[in-house]
Amino acid sequence: MSKSKVIVITGASSGIGEAIAKNQSKLGDKIVLGARREENLKKIQSDIEANKGQAVYQVTDVTNIEQVKALAQKALDTYGRIDVWINNAGLMPQSLLSDARVDDWNRMIDVNIKGTLYGIAAAQPTFHSQNSGHFINLGSVASLFSHAGGAVYSATKWAVKAISEGLREEEAQAQHNVRVTSLYPGAINTELVASVTDDATRAGMEEFYAQYGISSERIAEVVENVLSMPSDSAVNEIVIRPTKQVM
Ligand code: NDP
Repeated sequence: MSKSKVIVITGASSGIGEAIAKNQSKLGDKIVLGARREENLKKIQSDIEANKGQAVYQVTDVTNIEQVKALAQKALDTYGRIDVWINNAGLMPQSLLSDARVDDWNRMIDVNIKGTLYGIAAAQPTFHSQNSGHFINLGSVASLFSHAGGAVYSATKWAVKAISEGLREEEAQAQHNVRVTSLYPGAINTELVASVTDDATRAGMEEFYAQYGISSERIAEVVENVLSMPSDSAVNEIVIRPTKQVM
């Protein structure tokens, strides 16, 4: 693998995805940004270029498999390969099950679970033909426990954990040199809480994040470390919380 990596990031229009994109571009990697908000993507691309980095974007809704495949194709057309695919797009509209916010449940299932699967489907053929690649999937500490109000979000993030573990084993069995890393962050200050549609839940979470949240740059630092490992070794799982966060 060349030293400079081609990195595709879904949900790259804000928060953790944006932070990873900016950090890795400073290290010389070539970034392919995917998300729905084109204005944000354009701005991030120009910020990266202003810092002498390289990036392109493709407007992508990860709930649409054809659009996710087009994102992979954009990377191949522009840079000729894909070294890292980061399944980062996600949302967290938490609420009590008894509120039956079915639209929120469906959106979480579609983006957090199906979006991750579509990313795997889009990148895997390229990884296999290259005989190298690296998936980084964004779980959450909610992949590791559940709680009142967080059942569906946790379920989707447990699914990300389950998919990642299955993927890792399949790739190891097939000997394709494909690494799989799951990240389980705690409270990171991004736009994520804005996706909560229940006003009372959102207010409580805003307070929690104001008290405990840490910068998305911490996750970018973790990704930088994960990607710096020699290719014979894979960091499979990382939990990273604010030092002060209890749950
Ligand atoms: P943000 O809300 O800042 O970013 C979420 C990103 O997902 C945005 O870029 C958004 O872009 C994108 N997205 C949402 N829906 C879609 C879609 N249908 N298609 C494509 N992209 C989509 O939050 P974070 O940066 O915090 O979230 C990134 C990931 O980190 C998520 O998976 C989240 O669950 C996970 N995480 C976050 C934690 C936190 O405390 N912040 C803790 C643990 C995990 P756009 O709207 O432009 O499409």
